[in-house]
Amino acid sequence: MTSNELRIVKLSENFCYHELFPRHMCENLSAFYLKGMIDQRILNIAEQIRSDLGSVFVNNWYWGGAMQWRGYRTFDSAYYSSGSAHSWGQALDCNVRGRSPQEVHECILGQQDKYMALGLTRLESLEDAPTWVHLDVKYTGFDHIHVFRA
Ligand SMILES: [Zn+2]
Repeated sequence: MTSNELRIVKLSENFCYHELFPRHMCENLSAFYLKGMIDQRILNIAEQIRSDLGSVFVNNWYWGGAMQWRGYRTFDSAYYSSGSAHSWGQALDCNVRGRSPQEVHECILGQQDKYMALGLTRLESLEDAPTWVHLDVKYTGFDHIHVFRA
């Protein structure tokens, strides 16, 4: 099956399966199955960022780009790590149109209560993720959004 034959299936109001999952999963697994593999909190957080700042970009393989591991990540990926929140459908690497990763961090950290209520627990530091925003819902036990070093 080619990507042209893949139907565009929505995961949430503004995000489709191919933006959150790699090609092989979209080609081989049903939409129903995939829906159960992404943490709903990740989608709610992504929708909130879109609402606050603008269009959010994750994977672009569907449009011929090279990115397919920025949402759900399987061991086919060179970036796979069993402890990564990406391996559990609980993380997203994204960019926001016209906004630097620093601006996105500032927006989120300036509204911590709102984003924590949606389930956000962690952002990767800008030192380690300088050109994208990594966010996840991994348990920390902290009462604030934890900006972690890789
Ligand atoms: Zn990441």
